[in-house]
Amino acid sequence: MMLGYLLGRAGVSTVVLEKHADFLRDFRGDTVHPSTLMVMQELGLIDDFLKLPHTKIAVFAAEIGGIRVKIADFSHISAPCKFIALMPQWDFLQFLADKGRRFPALQVMMSAQVTQLIEEAGRVVGVAATTRDGPLEVRADLVIGCDGRNSTVRAASDLVVEDMGSPIDVLWFRLSKRAGDPSQVLGRLGVDKMIVTIDRTDYWQCAYVIGKGGIGRIHAAGLDAFKAAVAEGARFLSDRVDELKSFDDIKLLSVTVDRLTNWCRPGLLCIGDAAHAMSPVGGVGINLAIQDAVATANLLAAKLKARTLSDRDVDSVQQRRLFPVKVIQALQVAIHNRVLKPAVSGGGRPRTVPWPLKILNSSAWLRRWPAQVLGLGVRPEHVHSPDNP
Ligand SMILES: Cc1cc2nc3c(=O)[nH]c(=O)nc-3n(C[C@H](O)[C@H](O)[C@H](O)COP(=O)(O)OP(=O)(O)OC[C@H]3O[C@@H](n4cnc5c(N)ncnc54)[C@H](O)[C@@H]3O)c2cc1C
Repeated sequence: MMLGYLLGRAGVSTVVLEKHADFLRDFRGDTVHPSTLMVMQELGLIDDFLKLPHTKIAVFAAEIGGIRVKIADFSHISAPCKFIALMPQWDFLQFLADKGRRFPALQVMMSAQVTQLIEEAGRVVGVAATTRDGPLEVRADLVIGCDGRNSTVRAASDLVVEDMGSPIDVLWFRLSKRAGDPSQVLGRLGVDKMIVTIDRTDYWQCAYVIGKGGIGRIHAAGLDAFKAAVAEGARFLSDRVDELKSFDDIKLLSVTVDRLTNWCRPGLLCIGDAAHAMSPVGGVGINLAIQDAVATANLLAAKLKARTLSDRDVDSVQQRRLFPVKVIQALQVAIHNRVLKPAVSGGGRPRTVPWPLKILNSSAWLRRWPAQVLGLGVRPEHVHSPDNP
């Protein structure tokens, strides 16, 4: 949607195909980081954007073995918005779609599900889709697969996927918010468990981390055992775990970290999770996808408009974005293996605060650096694509 907005703004004839009828869908994360807020500012959208309901996080904290530690402090980072905005993804996407309506070059088609690539002489020349009005073919100078971690476009492309593996899965559920609840603490690391609670204004979006493939054991132990584990991991939730009526209220996210070795082939480019599926760790996936979109528009919009795009131009997107993606995925894999895997793999050892976190907790000046990396990523993108609808 962001790339559609940017290309429409640059006057490039663009069709966005979205398989759902609206942007409402299961929880996929809400964290709009300073890098994305900076893009919204560069597009002149920030004031209207921040009028949408959201909560602000200026400090990223965790609770380890019952002790609260501050890990990242956004108030001193080098960005115009020194906080993370927590905003439902559907509000964000609908906002971009509404703002994009003023661009005659942009067409957003809802309920349009891409099913196949159309190829001629080894080159991708379009896609086939199903819509409410029947089958549709869209021919294009460039097809851009931004259809997420289970991308149909990527599966149809024969591009090679490198799987970095993941030792964890995550269970997602909601519990109500009540008066007197603690202020936003994101991660809670206790004995053999890790729970993340995200303040969604009127409810808590909760993530319970389990070992990879551990869902069978959770089901076998039963719902009451799961509720007891949640209550133990985040004690303030113990008075409402009965809101979970069945395992249907608890969604499994199979965590994946992977990357295409080549993000493009003639006529086709993949970006976002379709090119590099991200773990929810750090809440960075949305923001990396947006950064990819900005880089793609910066590098390709003018040539797409002039219809002078070469395959080498398309490859320049991966050249630009590969390093930042590699760095963040390496950090996610390290956190999976060094923090989350030991935390959920049993052993019953009480958790203590590791010394690097003790140091961070004691120094506001040091806490700005993790915030800088988390908030802006590596080599943040700025909007350079033309504003010429
Ligand atoms: C449970 C969960 C929690 C997460 N939490 C966070 C978080 O807090 N912060 C964060 O930054 N990231 C988080 N992530 C990661 C984040 O959601 C992704 O990295 C990010 O959404 C990737 O953006 P994208 O545009 O590439 O793909 P997506 O956001 O997945 O968008 C793909 C779009 O393509 C559409 N689509 C799919 N197939 C087709 C098709 N065949 N035809 C047409 N349309 C199609 C989908 O409906 C969807 O709208 C989380 C992920 C999950 C699963």
